[in-house]
Amino acid sequence: MTELKELYPVGEQPPLGYVPPKMHAWLVRPERFGEPLKAWQVEVIDTPTPADDEVLVYVMAAGVNYNNVWAGLGIPVDVIGARNKAGEPERFHIGGSDASGIVYQVGKDVTHLKVGDEVAIHCGTWSRDDPWVQSGEDPMYSSTFRIWGYETNWGSFAQFTKVQAHQCLPRPQHLTWEQSAAYMLVGATAYRMLYGWEEHALRPDDVVLIWGGAGGLGSMAIQIVKAAGGKAVAVVSEDDKFEYCQNLGAVGCINRKNFDHWGMLPHWKDTVGYNQWLKGVRGFGKAIWDVLGERRSPRIVFEHPGETTIPTSIFVCDTGGAVVICAGTTGYNATVDLRYLWMRQKRLQGSHFANDQQAKGFNDLVLAGKADPCMSRAFTWEELPYSHQLMYENKHPFGNMAILIGAPDFGLGKKIAEPAGLTTIEPTAEIREREGFYRAPLHPVDVQKPAEAPAVEDSRLVRELMHFGVISCSAGTPVDEVAQRMADYHVHAIVVTDVDGYAVGVVSQTDIVLARQGRSAAEMAGISAGAIMSTNVVTCAPEATVSEAITLMTRNRIHRLVVVDTRSGKPWPVGVLSMTDIITYGMRSAPLSGPAMSMSPAALAADIYEPMAPEPNLAELGVIEDSTLVADVMHRGVVASPAGASVMDAARQMLEHGIHAIVVVADDGRAVGVVSQTDVVLARQGRTVEQAAALSAGDIMTPSLVSCTADRKLSEAITLMTRNRVHRLVVVEDQAGKLMPVGILSMTDVIRQFFSRN
Ligand code: NAP
Repeated sequence: MTELKELYPVGEQPPLGYVPPKMHAWLVRPERFGEPLKAWQVEVIDTPTPADDEVLVYVMAAGVNYNNVWAGLGIPVDVIGARNKAGEPERFHIGGSDASGIVYQVGKDVTHLKVGDEVAIHCGTWSRDDPWVQSGEDPMYSSTFRIWGYETNWGSFAQFTKVQAHQCLPRPQHLTWEQSAAYMLVGATAYRMLYGWEEHALRPDDVVLIWGGAGGLGSMAIQIVKAAGGKAVAVVSEDDKFEYCQNLGAVGCINRKNFDHWGMLPHWKDTVGYNQWLKGVRGFGKAIWDVLGERRSPRIVFEHPGETTIPTSIFVCDTGGAVVICAGTTGYNATVDLRYLWMRQKRLQGSHFANDQQAKGFNDLVLAGKADPCMSRAFTWEELPYSHQLMYENKHPFGNMAILIGAPDFGLGKKIAEPAGLTTIEPTAEIREREGFYRAPLHPVDVQKPAEAPAVEDSRLVRELMHFGVISCSAGTPVDEVAQRMADYHVHAIVVTDVDGYAVGVVSQTDIVLARQGRSAAEMAGISAGAIMSTNVVTCAPEATVSEAITLMTRNRIHRLVVVDTRSGKPWPVGVLSMTDIITYGMRSAPLSGPAMSMSPAALAADIYEPMAPEPNLAELGVIEDSTLVADVMHRGVVASPAGASVMDAARQMLEHGIHAIVVVADDGRAVGVVSQTDVVLARQGRTVEQAAALSAGDIMTPSLVSCTADRKLSEAITLMTRNRVHRLVVVEDQAGKLMPVGILSMTDVIRQFFSRN
């Protein structure tokens, strides 16, 4: 009889059913949170014991997913700390949310599994004691839902993993161990997205638009749609991914690089910018029809890029159709033209992983040979941190990756012939490292983790910082006079009051610029403040705390609040609090102590809009594009700061020059970011003066510089500003591949230009 060991070398399988007391595992510990190569280390630890509803699985191979890059970094969540808080003692994390393996030990309540069963494991866990789960509701909505091997410990990056029995599904015997470990997380996610939303469950002949068709989720989605008899249209970024997607079953592909209307929507008041966007998105919609050979729009749009694609997804989705989204790879601020959403009765549906039935639904497709795992690359046990490092650096190949854990070599575990009719899909013809792929950071500049930052509230009151008195006009004041008043008083917004002096609206620089955009100077002459003002005045009371006021401003993307007295029941404007006021006083003194007072922002009656017909024919509005160039209007020269300069210096520079943002430059003079007043104020929010003073401009800058060149049309520059909700653009010049800042174009410059010409 072979001698039973306390610990087995990796790759040597213990006798079936014998659980050695010790095991090898890849562990993250809090003291080495960081990049994968640093965070993950092999240690020998006690083999866990399964609970009554759990099984212990000897892991043969594990899948690679992005969540264990985050777990290793310790952001945005310290998964170890979170579990410790919940009462789990282990000060380590064993990741791994995909696996194939063999059952070695079975909890006493488990009836459908036995020692020796070969399983593929899905990553959805929940408490069987949760009344919600017991009542038969979808456990994906249970507050006890956790992703195994990310939110829970004891994932598949170890010789043994502890899982709930319901996570185990039969392993496809025509696949290798590593292929069996590569597909479940993405496959089951895609399956729920396509089948989980009853009214929009996939039907034969449905047109489905699939973003990232050659990626992990997209490749699974194409196959699910094909298996259902639907028509998958895949979007990719290179023509040479077309063949791969078509082999998977897509009816055709679109190269997204042929379009340039991506990103947040232009402001709906920006007729020129919006018109331009409509042209782009309609062209994309036509490309879908061209691929299909008929004028049909997608009933389902399979979304995960998020910020840059959502406006397009919602526009091209069919009337009564659904956009289903499970991630925001390019950013989280999705903009939606609600007119299309409500008039065409579309749905924007969030979706996250899958329940048992959905995981089984996808596994059945794999078992039947109708879905291929699309494994692009497998790694050895030793390469586990490296595989995650590739992902961290966005250098990983497209498709799904797996790692050998117990399996001693690649290519093992295939026990039966492939099901009839299966065409094995070779990974993308050329697997190349991805370039310029941007995964939006989940966490802003990591100057200090929020959890560690002391909650310093600025409890001073608005009335201590605001300036009293407001520059106002009446609803009937002509817009050019409003613009003149703004210039005379150096303000960026004017309060519109009624005959009794109560605030009824605000006209900002942006309102004026957008009113002018697309209109001739003659047309502008007949327009008055009341026609362009925004009636949704964001106000606060003088007794509000400065912290509350800051949140109100940043939340509404504005730079000043109208301070109102509402004792009479109507908003009487008494003053204005601007970002400049907060910087002027905020950076100097420490917050005064004393209880924070509650704020009663008095917003006026919300705007009531008539629903507009979708797809307004802007051509009929007589849109006139301005032929002025940025170079004609910008002011040359920029106030710049090195990235290493302190935030205090940056703030001082702004106040000295009377400007609202400074450009951050690298040693060679190239522009690398912008620090705005808002950045400075937010750096101070929640920190003591000393903590804020320790920060540098580089720590708090916004790295995505909204810039343009001097030869761009002014109307394009306006769209760029309003779309990005900024009030100035950095004008840059390309000098040998480096963007050198040469000037600034601000809303004030634009207004001056508009009203100086006839
Ligand atoms: P992936 O293999 O990296 O694929 C992402 C795809 O997105 C790429 O193929 C790329 O294709 C496309 N893409 C990149 N930038 C784009 C842009 N600006 N516009 C349009 N498409 C763009 O990743 P994945 O495995 O499919 O996962 C995608 C996301 O879903 C990740 O963030 C992942 O964490 C998340 N996810 C969530 C769940 C959940 O349960 N909630 C489950 C699985 C995955 P082209 O460049 O060819 O267009």
